[in-house]
Amino acid sequence: MMPPMPELPEVETIKKQIETYLPFKVSAITTSSFIESIRGGRPKSQFASLKNLVVSKLIRHGKYLFWFFENTTGAIMVSHLGMSGKWLIDTSDAPLLKHTHLRFYGKNFTLSYIDPRRFGEIGVLSSSAYTAKLKKLGPDALSPHLNLAYLQELFSRYPSRSLKKILLDQTALCGIGNYLASEIMVRAHLLPTRELASLTPPDIKNLLRAIKTSINLSIKAQGLTFDGAYRDLHGKAGNTSSSLLVFQQASCGQCKKGQKVVRIVQDGRSTFYCKQCQH
Ligand SMILES: [Zn+2]
Repeated sequence: MMPPMPELPEVETIKKQIETYLPFKVSAITTSSFIESIRGGRPKSQFASLKNLVVSKLIRHGKYLFWFFENTTGAIMVSHLGMSGKWLIDTSDAPLLKHTHLRFYGKNFTLSYIDPRRFGEIGVLSSSAYTAKLKKLGPDALSPHLNLAYLQELFSRYPSRSLKKILLDQTALCGIGNYLASEIMVRAHLLPTRELASLTPPDIKNLLRAIKTSINLSIKAQGLTFDGAYRDLHGKAGNTSSSLLVFQQASCGQCKKGQKVVRIVQDGRSTFYCKQCQH
C-alpha cells in the first residue's frame, strides 16, 4: 500500500518551520530541468524572476502553501507536496540532492524543494490567478469558515454522497487526506459509508469537533511519518503515528476493547474504521 501523502498538519509543520527564516532575500535560484513538468510548473524564466525578491509571508490553505514576496510584480509562488514532495533547509554550500527541482539561496542557508515522483505542484501565479485558485478550493479545515452552518449547507447539496468522499473533496473543504479522514470519522463515531442526508445535526456537530481535534492533535505531534515517507524541514519524522486510533492499526485505539479495525476500499483508497465505535 502506498504511504499516506502529506496533509494539512504536515504542511502546517513545514510552514511554521520556514517562517522562522522569514523574511529572507532570494539571492540566487537554481531550477531543475524538470521544473516545467511538475504540476503547475512554469517556464524556468518565471522562477528566475523571483531572484532578489524578499520572501515575506506564507499562507497555508489546506495542503497548499502560497509564498508572498515584498515588492511589486504581484507574483505569488504556489507549492503543494503531492505524494513525495519535501522542503529541506540546509547550509549554503550543501550539494544539490537528487530530485531537487528548486532551490532558494538565502544569506546563510539554502531552501530546496525535492520531489522524486513529481506529483507535487510548484508554480508562479499572478495575483488574479491566485484569487482564481482559491475560489476553486473549499474553506481551510482549520479556518472559522469551516463551521456548522457551512457543513449543513454543503451536505444538503450532496445528499447521496458518502461521508468519506466529501471529506477528501478539496473543493468542499480543504486539507484532509486519507489518514485524517479515517481518524476524524472514528472520533465522530460515524461510518465512512454514511450518506450525507442521513447525518443528524448532532452527527454534524460531532464531525466538526472531530475535524478540528484530529488536525490539531496531528499538528501538535509534528505530522505523520509512515513507511519512511514525510519529513519536516530539517529531515525529521513526525510523531502522529503513535496516536493513531484506526488508520493502519490492527485494533481500535478509541474503544480499546481489542476490537479489530476493518479496512475497506472507497474510490480506490483505503478507509479504516471500528465496528464498535462507528454507526
Ligand atoms: Zn473502537
